[in-house]
Amino acid sequence: MPRIQLLNPRLANQIAAGEVVERPSSVIKELLENSLDAGATRVDIDVEQGGVKLLRVRDDGCGIDESDLPLALSRHATSKIMDLDDLERVATLGFRGEALASVASVSRLMLTSCAEAADQAWQVETEGRDMNPRVQPAAHPRGTTVEVRDLFFNTPARRKFLRTEKTEFGHLEEVVKRLALSRFDVAFNLRHNGRSVLSLRPAHTEQEAQRRVASICGPAFVEQSLTIDHERSGLRLWGWVGLPTFSRSQADLQYFCVNGRLIRDKLVAHAVRQAYRDVLFNGRHPTFVLFLEVDPAVVDVNVHPTKHEVRFRDGRMVHDFLFSTLYRALADQRPDSQGPAAE
Ligand code: ADP
Ligand code: MG
Repeated sequence: MPRIQLLNPRLANQIAAGEVVERPSSVIKELLENSLDAGATRVDIDVEQGGVKLLRVRDDGCGIDESDLPLALSRHATSKIMDLDDLERVATLGFRGEALASVASVSRLMLTSCAEAADQAWQVETEGRDMNPRVQPAAHPRGTTVEVRDLFFNTPARRKFLRTEKTEFGHLEEVVKRLALSRFDVAFNLRHNGRSVLSLRPAHTEQEAQRRVASICGPAFVEQSLTIDHERSGLRLWGWVGLPTFSRSQADLQYFCVNGRLIRDKLVAHAVRQAYRDVLFNGRHPTFVLFLEVDPAVVDVNVHPTKHEVRFRDGRMVHDFLFSTLYRALADQRPDSQGPAAE
């Protein structure tokens, strides 16, 4: 047996990157979440060659202090939580302090930022070098730009798993759409190879929100859905549920947000399926864009590194609330039914 040695930081980051950085779309997810956490009101995303050549996210958020720039690229370095208490009620999308370090270890990354109170922007680059970047002055308005080039250039085994430009961009566009649905108040612009793909203005009114949903899910979804908004014992559920006639053969128009975080959750999926059970044909999937608002203390988001999953303290109650709210909303779709069926 060889002797035990500590991994060098770069290799440790590359191993960690295996968990969160699978493809360009996972990078975009992390970068956008950082922009949203920074309070951005607008994000501009530029992508070249499906994201393999270039991913650039520019925001107008709070920015990063000059002295914090190298730290932002270090593993387990975060400004979002400080102790276990914070972790228990985390309200930001990120908190693990791993994303930028991971991405930097498998790409050529440049981070440029101008902090709120600063009179000057600064920049760090980790062009495949080791992880102690030099900070240099730069020009940038308030906010941050992260530029990721040549993803997986130094990890050929991972690069091999990338699909065609079209497929990778498809995944990436889906991530942007999901996040755009979770934050109506933020403007999103997405360009691929210089061509505008998505241009969403902030949506403050109900009508504007409706328009955003239409541009992301298609006008037909909005036309053929019911809007709901229901509150009970500290839980609120609102959004759009597609009419049974607007069901799909795949579960690909289903968005569920808990406190501004898009999730995929078995309990949620089950509650929705139950509510639609007697109005959908076998093999058809419901369509929905739903927002659940709960006290952050009753939901645990620290379950999985990609944070797709959450755990509700009282799953039973959440399930009942979702089921009964949706069941009632769909009541008119089921003329000959006699009230909520037992599960
Ligand atoms: P996490 O988001 O889990 O804290 P990241 O590695 O994604 O970890 O980011 C590390 C830190 O860098 C963040 O905690 C934040 O302070 C800073 N940061 C990253 N991106 C931005 C951004 N777009 N605007 C402002 N600060 C940022
Ligand atoms: Mg983050």
